[in-house]
Amino acid sequence: MTNELNIAANLTRTAERQPDDVAIKLDDFTLTWSQLDDATQRLATFLADQGVGVGDRVALSLPNVPAFPVVAYGVWRAGAVLVPMNPLFMGREIDYYFEDAGVKLAFGMAGEMAKAAEQKSVTFVEVGDDQLQSLLAKFEPTSDIVERDGSDTAVILYTSGTTGRPKGAELTHDNLETNQDVTARTLVEVTSDDVVMGCLPLFHVFGLTCAMAVSVSRGATLTLLPRFEPTKALEIIERDSVTVFEGVPTMYQAMLAAAAKAPEVKLASLRTCISGGSAMPVEVLRKFEERFDATILEGYGLSETSPVASFNHPNAQRKPGSIGTPIEGVEMKVADLDGNPLPVGEVGEVAVRGHNIMKGYWNKPEETAKAIRDGWFYTGDLARQDEDGFYFIVDRSKDMIIRGGYNVYPREVEEVLYEHPEIAEVAVVGVPDEHYGEEVAAFVVRTEGSNLDADAVKAFAKERVAAYKYPRHVTFIETLPKGATGKILKRELRPQ
Ligand code: AMP
Repeated sequence: MTNELNIAANLTRTAERQPDDVAIKLDDFTLTWSQLDDATQRLATFLADQGVGVGDRVALSLPNVPAFPVVAYGVWRAGAVLVPMNPLFMGREIDYYFEDAGVKLAFGMAGEMAKAAEQKSVTFVEVGDDQLQSLLAKFEPTSDIVERDGSDTAVILYTSGTTGRPKGAELTHDNLETNQDVTARTLVEVTSDDVVMGCLPLFHVFGLTCAMAVSVSRGATLTLLPRFEPTKALEIIERDSVTVFEGVPTMYQAMLAAAAKAPEVKLASLRTCISGGSAMPVEVLRKFEERFDATILEGYGLSETSPVASFNHPNAQRKPGSIGTPIEGVEMKVADLDGNPLPVGEVGEVAVRGHNIMKGYWNKPEETAKAIRDGWFYTGDLARQDEDGFYFIVDRSKDMIIRGGYNVYPREVEEVLYEHPEIAEVAVVGVPDEHYGEEVAAFVVRTEGSNLDADAVKAFAKERVAAYKYPRHVTFIETLPKGATGKILKRELRPQ
């Protein structure tokens, strides 16, 4: 064991290399690398003072504010395990995390979190606007980084997986370190000259690894947006000359819609854009690239894969609509129900093996054994591979619709509907049907001022897909329900 294997060591190294560069920015507020490192050192002293040490679970419930990286790296420095939580959680949700992870101490804002902590006898530390700064002023910095092995758990990330209540995916220091390193070096090619947009929630794996951990290890500035709002995101990209934008497809879609009313917005500083978290509709990718003269590289992964598993690598062939090829050090296969690899073109479950696979689900050995078999992690996503080794996600297995014995992959129908100029957003789900078992239903958000009707939507799809696939039900709605990262929540669209 050495403290070099603790992910917290990255921050200290960057602070030694470029102490006065801007590390974190939130509008006019900035922290340099030495200030950020100093704050995490004091936080580690505070945690030791509270009796929090190796392996203890510490919850963190904040939007994207500078206190987030301070607490995260302070917790790792102290050898403890971070349990990030969505700050929008209410009582019962917080209770579940506290109990399941056995949280000892929690950082967050007053309100729900404070109440839950009191009931569950968890030490609560309020980190509103200035509270953290005045707390840290009372503690001395420590240059110690608690020794951790690469295989020790750094973070427990709750994810719904394919079924049931959220499970805690345990990611190790090695998982985080390797995934951030491969991402920074081979996928996004980040340097200290970059400005990375921090609009993905840092409490989710995509923001935590690809935005925060990457920026910290490479010394790039991370400019934060506490909650995604497309107009504000466009403003920040221009104001801070952001070079790397990372987002989920709905963010790209929303920025495109917001920019339709602002022809002066150019986003000329953008060097690369990364999309992940859900399928990027090819039409959205094409329109965004055209409007901003940008390149979007799509990747794929899950909380359980730290997160990146595959990517459309830079300076190489790219295939819109594909999740690319496995990243360095990672293998993937399209498997049948017994785990055997399927030939090119056939649809099966994606399985992943390599340095990015979680240690397991926290305290859930049976769930872990179901998900990780012979070293392969089974994702619950359906895909096919082409002759060039590129993977194409056809859908999540649980989103697949079976209509009268035929499989309908909602994604394929969505891709077609995105081609309609008056459709801004669309989600296709299965609804129960007496005759066919399930029927295809589309939820459509029209572009501003559009009077598109259901018959026109059906006719548009009918001309472009096999007869059993086009939506028989079309519902127009104002907005699609979205989760914390901006992923469309299909379960909320299905009849309960
Ligand atoms: P999470 O654990 O919240 O990151 O969710 C992981 C899930 O997001 C995966 O199992 C996929 O269903 C989905 N996902 C991530 N990236 C992509 C992508 N590029 N295309 C399609 N689905 C994706």
